[in-house]
Amino acid sequence: MTTKRIMSGMRPTGRLHLGHYFGALTNWLHFQNSGGFDPYFSIVDWHALTTKYQDTSEVKGNIFEIALDWLCVGIDPEKATIYVQSAIPEIAELHLLFSMFTPHNWVEREPTLKDMVRMLDNDEHAAQEKVTYGLLGYPVLMASDILTFRGELVPVGKDQESHLEFARDVARRFNHLFKTDYFPEPQPKFTETPLLKGVDGLKMGKSFNNDIKIADTDSDTAKRVKQMITDRTRIAKSDPGHTDLCEVPWPWYNIIDRDKADVLALVKDECESAKIGCVDCKTRLAGHINDAFRPFREKREKLASDPDQVRKILEHGNAKARKVAKETLSEVREIMGMTTWPT
Ligand code: SF4
Repeated sequence: MTTKRIMSGMRPTGRLHLGHYFGALTNWLHFQNSGGFDPYFSIVDWHALTTKYQDTSEVKGNIFEIALDWLCVGIDPEKATIYVQSAIPEIAELHLLFSMFTPHNWVEREPTLKDMVRMLDNDEHAAQEKVTYGLLGYPVLMASDILTFRGELVPVGKDQESHLEFARDVARRFNHLFKTDYFPEPQPKFTETPLLKGVDGLKMGKSFNNDIKIADTDSDTAKRVKQMITDRTRIAKSDPGHTDLCEVPWPWYNIIDRDKADVLALVKDECESAKIGCVDCKTRLAGHINDAFRPFREKREKLASDPDQVRKILEHGNAKARKVAKETLSEVREIMGMTTWPT
């Protein structure tokens, strides 16, 4: 069976939350475990600098944290290549080579750039002043991330499709300019990403302080779940609830207990006939979350106590990724006529 190389990455900006798990990692696990794919998963630490270049003190620690999160949920270094972007200098070289022929209006029109700029400062003018050359060039870096490994597939949600279009444009331009078909045009592998709301009912995000982390303890989780917004029309415990108006716990039940039709039927019945109050209902939900994540959390704790093991896993992945990257760059230099003289 031919395998397709699939490439994805995450920025090391802190511990991952359950939105990352259900939105990305479950898909990664599927690709890793279902055969037919050769997954490359990258901790993209250079990308972390595009919006937070002034303070790098946490990057190293966050690489370790993200590796723990990936490994504890089952990302398997025997089945996937797990590596750190900055350990592969060839990615930076390809970024530089790509930047020579990428028209500047391609990067300026990139729709996600506006969101990234907003992350820098609420004030649009102040934010513009903070836009660096590196931030402007992040789509080129992303194209290099994918094409260094000649990634054929990239798991994306519909909202991230523009990144991939950019990488395809770069691959196409390279192939056209140098009369080759060397780079595959990476295709999107659209994934179902259930939207996991934060406890306040808004999009879950670590900077919004509304998330539950993979690494959280049982009691951290219970405290967070207690804050979840429920059915705002339900005033007293004796009022029947409405699952369709329940803002956070009911949607969460539908993700955490998605394979348990009996549990969902019970929650719905108890809610809508006022057999249970929201406080108890949320306590039960917290229990289900903790039961589901306990094995990951236990594995995480064990791994965290053995940083050498995690280091070895990353070193192994870095070496494997570097070998492929060196081959790519050697071939790219050859195609471009940029082999160094006099060697
Ligand atoms: Fe939501 Fe449960 Fe309250 Fe019903 S009882 S509104 S499902 S928290």
